[in-house]
Amino acid sequence: MRRPAVLQVAVMAIFVFALAYLVWLGYGALPLLLPTPTPSPSFSGAQALALAQRQCEFGPRPSGTEANRQTGDWIIAQLKAAGWQVETQEITWNGVPLRNIVAKAGKGPAVLVAAHYDTRPVADQDPNPEAQTQPIVGGNDGASGVAVLLELARVLDRGRLTNEVWLAFFDGEDRGRLPGWDWGQGARLYVQSLKSLPAQMVLLDMVGDSNQRFPYEGNSNPQLRAQIWALAGRMGFGNVFVPVQGQALTDDHIPFIAAGVPAVDIIDFDYPYWHTTADTCDKLDPASLDRVGKVVQAWLAGAALAAPN
Ligand SMILES: [Zn+2]
Repeated sequence: MRRPAVLQVAVMAIFVFALAYLVWLGYGALPLLLPTPTPSPSFSGAQALALAQRQCEFGPRPSGTEANRQTGDWIIAQLKAAGWQVETQEITWNGVPLRNIVAKAGKGPAVLVAAHYDTRPVADQDPNPEAQTQPIVGGNDGASGVAVLLELARVLDRGRLTNEVWLAFFDGEDRGRLPGWDWGQGARLYVQSLKSLPAQMVLLDMVGDSNQRFPYEGNSNPQLRAQIWALAGRMGFGNVFVPVQGQALTDDHIPFIAAGVPAVDIIDFDYPYWHTTADTCDKLDPASLDRVGKVVQAWLAGAALAAPN
């Protein structure tokens, strides 16, 4: 059957008007659907340096000391002020109270970025034998990694994270070779306490010295390591993140690797003041902290897309 022409025109007209209305509505509603993006603050090496210096002002921060407790309280306050949800794990090991601090934000597969905030109670690599029983301030070995994590807590856009990000501040790392202790004791106890493991783990240790160079750490997950170093290379840092084999180290990533979590240690172990009383905050370079912070921030922006399991 053939419709009368007038009906056909009317149907067509209604269709055209409806379409035009929808298009108009669509464009009209567009600004409501697409809020103007607010630029996220960018990682600041100068800000990170100030965060490291604040830790150095607490003095040496070995586990179980008052300065360690004060540093932990200060870390928690920084994280809460930045809007992160903070959890603590308090345990006693070998008679020493330890407190691991973990801040969480975002949704998706969990990725953990860690540093240790305790410092070594003995400067056993100090060239001066009398100083070898003194605790270290740990400007690079302790404060640098914590500073980068705290600056990340400030700049990461928690609403736009594609992972659940865990920023972990481990206690009890730097007591290896002391009676009853192993390196990474705090991190080991933390991993043992977890009901579900993070999908990936990145550790920052000794990331602030002026003469920065990161070869591959030998115990790190090869795929994840290659991904991060390649990313750093694309960011123009290929002369610092150098994809050549470096030393294999015992650090807070080991308990994660043992539990099956792909984990990477970003560490510049070529540091003349390691475990000496001269490892102070004046050895830190804001450009070094800036580089590491920006690489980790960029990695977190794409971490969920590239699980290397
Ligand atoms: Zn150390």
